[in-house]
Amino acid sequence: MMKFLDLESKVEARIKDDLCRERLAIDSAQGSELVVGGKTYLNFSSNDYLGLATSDVSKKAIKIAVDKFGFGSGASHLVCGHQSPHDAFEKEVASFLNRDSAISFSSGYMANLGVIQALTKKGDLILADKLNHASLIDGVKLSHADSYRYQHANMSSLQRRLSQSSQNTFVITDSVFSMDGDLAPVDEIAMLCEKHNAILIVDDAHGFGVLGENGEGIAEHFNLNQKKLPVLVSALGKALGGVGAVVSGSKALVDYLIQFSRNYIYTTAMPASCAAANLANLHALEKKTILLKTLRENIQLFKSECEQVGIQLMESDTAIQPLVVGDNKKLVDINKKLKNLGFLVGAIRPPTVPKNSARLRITISASHEPLQIKMLASALKQVL
Ligand SMILES: *Cc1c(COP(=O)(O)O)cnc(C)c1O
Repeated sequence: MMKFLDLESKVEARIKDDLCRERLAIDSAQGSELVVGGKTYLNFSSNDYLGLATSDVSKKAIKIAVDKFGFGSGASHLVCGHQSPHDAFEKEVASFLNRDSAISFSSGYMANLGVIQALTKKGDLILADKLNHASLIDGVKLSHADSYRYQHANMSSLQRRLSQSSQNTFVITDSVFSMDGDLAPVDEIAMLCEKHNAILIVDDAHGFGVLGENGEGIAEHFNLNQKKLPVLVSALGKALGGVGAVVSGSKALVDYLIQFSRNYIYTTAMPASCAAANLANLHALEKKTILLKTLRENIQLFKSECEQVGIQLMESDTAIQPLVVGDNKKLVDINKKLKNLGFLVGAIRPPTVPKNSARLRITISASHEPLQIKMLASALKQVL
């Protein structure tokens, strides 16, 4: 490799600073237990909040669709890759979310880039929460608009910027912050946007399938209709246990994105079988609010178990339950000890989170047994 890139020393610096990420080769399906290197671990690191990644209905749907459609989709959506399962999923998810229309992207990352790039232009202003997901940050970087990152979930910071702006203005926020688990006050943000004539874009990756009575997500949680929340991005790789993302809103929005969203247009459509499996899991979600109930009980159980043994978690009612350790090395040590005890938990460090806020990112799922959750709380007590 060319010398000026200096690849090795950059990775070595990460090792030295306890910032090096490692991949595990997981030798089992997703679930509350994972097999790595022949050993079984209790898994508290996945975003498969409802256990749908391994649902029988999705496995059945994907097999049937593979027999009919084969593996690859062969082309982008606008050429000939848009197959009937893609179309059926978009219609069904729009109706589930009570929105006029929906368009599917190959991933949440792509959807965020594609929406921001297509809707914003030079001379516009983007106001973005400081703790937004990396894909939203990158979307803003790709845009030619001016941008400003307001203090996390701070409504006076946002309001000040909104009232000063004479540009066409967009407000972009996560619904559930992916590394903190807290909610953006999307109801207040929507009101501010309405008052100041700004357009609201919400990334509901961790709210879709989790928030609201029926798991419809952030819009249901705050009772926000399409007029109040015009651009909603819902990733499908988390609670839906699938792959891809949908952007939903008015028919005009979706028609526009089909024409102008580069991340939609210039990429091969996801395999039709995946769209079919997404649809099967959506049906499961529509029917099975029992999964949601179990998830919520599990979250409450974990929080109360931690409280009992004096473990201080971050303020969160969602499936994301972070425990801030602060120091990178200390976090890596704690995480290693947990692994030795048979637990897999995410070790989140800078630059994913701000300096000195390294944390365990514990995620709870409906697929956890109460006993497994209790075991985690006592293991945490032991290693801390
Ligand atoms: C995971 C995630 C994404 C990206 O979604 P993918 O489908 O995994 O690409 C976007 N935004 C947030 C907040 C996420 O957590």
